[in-house]
Amino acid sequence: MSCLSQVCKTAASTALRAFSTTSACNAGAHVNGFNFELNETQREIQSVARKFAREEIAPVAAKHDETGEWPAEIYKKAWELGLTNKGIPEHCGGLEQGIFDSCLISEEFSWGCTGITVAIEGTSLGQAPVILSGNKEQQKKYLGRLVEEPLVAAYGVTEPGAGSDVNGLKTKAEKKGDEYILNGQKMWITNGGVANWYFVLARTNPDPKCPASKAFTGFIVEKDFLGVKPGRKEQMMGQRASDTRGITFEDVRVPKENVLIGEGAGFKIAMGVFDMTRPPVGANATGLAQRCLDEATKYALERKAFGTQIINHQAVAFLLADMAIGIETARLAWMKSAWEVDNGKRNSYMAAIAKCHAGDIANKCANEAVQIFGGNGFNKEYPVEKLVRDAKIFQIYEGTTQIQKLIISRCLVDAAKSSN
Ligand SMILES: Cc1cc2nc3c(=O)[nH]c(=O)nc-3n(C[C@H](O)[C@H](O)[C@H](O)COP(=O)(O)OP(=O)(O)OC[C@H]3O[C@@H](n4cnc5c(N)ncnc54)[C@H](O)[C@@H]3O)c2cc1C
Repeated sequence: MSCLSQVCKTAASTALRAFSTTSACNAGAHVNGFNFELNETQREIQSVARKFAREEIAPVAAKHDETGEWPAEIYKKAWELGLTNKGIPEHCGGLEQGIFDSCLISEEFSWGCTGITVAIEGTSLGQAPVILSGNKEQQKKYLGRLVEEPLVAAYGVTEPGAGSDVNGLKTKAEKKGDEYILNGQKMWITNGGVANWYFVLARTNPDPKCPASKAFTGFIVEKDFLGVKPGRKEQMMGQRASDTRGITFEDVRVPKENVLIGEGAGFKIAMGVFDMTRPPVGANATGLAQRCLDEATKYALERKAFGTQIINHQAVAFLLADMAIGIETARLAWMKSAWEVDNGKRNSYMAAIAKCHAGDIANKCANEAVQIFGGNGFNKEYPVEKLVRDAKIFQIYEGTTQIQKLIISRCLVDAAKSSN
């Protein structure tokens, strides 16, 4: 480990270990009313993550984009520094960090490369159901091993025939004695080929009339269980460092101890985790948008047209201003949604707004950055071409933009009805 990493490690472990979910709540609580300032520990976390993004992630981003190689070495470094596994409870050896603080890291990492960030942070999505609903033994066994070794988890819900419509899942699990026999196919599973274990959602009630809230069960499935077969790594448009695959389950025997909460509780668990995971996705998209603005501003100050730097053309300057407006509001939205969940408030509405808005802003900023770069923006030699490709997925995974709007509008209807 380099000197720098050692410095980071000391700073990070002191900073991160001193800061738990409890202190995240206290951070906001020491001031009555609104407070837009990070505390000292949060600033330290942000600065360690920023340094890591600039020195470890950004320099190799283009290489991983080109090769599609999962960044095992970077993951290991982030793991050693305590910059991953952020939400794992203390009783499993984790930092039990709040969502807000973990989002600070997400945004900084994403400035460096969202593909590498998803490779590092995708495990949080797999862990979330176990953090949310696992019993102490399940948590110790499965979350504990991620703290002991640089292993990762994955979240397996989507299937080839059903993504947004989770009720349409076909993967099924049948109880036989003390085990469940799992059969089916998942698709688009982040970390699919590199995970040590998966959260898998499967139908346990075959009656098509059974409501989703009772028809599905959540399982912890180890990759080494017989019959678990990850498919080929998908060749994606962006975020190519992330390992995304289909997974087939053929007569996989899952012990009943690996059921989360109980039979029929799976749908609620699978949907409940998004309140924890959408704020970080909003933060990731914000980080990418910030990178677009930084690159475009720098370029606009250097590039000359019609005898002056292009930033002196108001049309270009206003593009930058619009990008800044989007980024600042996207940041405030992820911050509010993360603060809500850390403080025990229902945040589905705000998490959907944060994810949806930041996803759109990331795409808008990436497109405008290419515009400001002109022909050079269309060239792989410059950084913004990759940013456009990486940005698109923010409008698709963890619930598409349309699904976020569905959630937001349903919340509005509920609020209107309850006020009558
Ligand atoms: C790179 C990548 C990584 C992913 N990682 C994971 C992962 O780790 N785990 C996992 O389980 N899944 C993962 N996914 C899956 C992802 O969450 C789904 O792709 C997403 O939820 C959309 O589902 P779908 O692809 O089946 O599209 P569909 O559900 O078929 O949607 C197609 C289109 O129809 C629209 N639509 C659908 N229903 C409605 C509606 N009711 N109202 C309005 N519009 C609607 C959608 O918005 C979309 O535009 C990943 C996907 C990708 C591409």
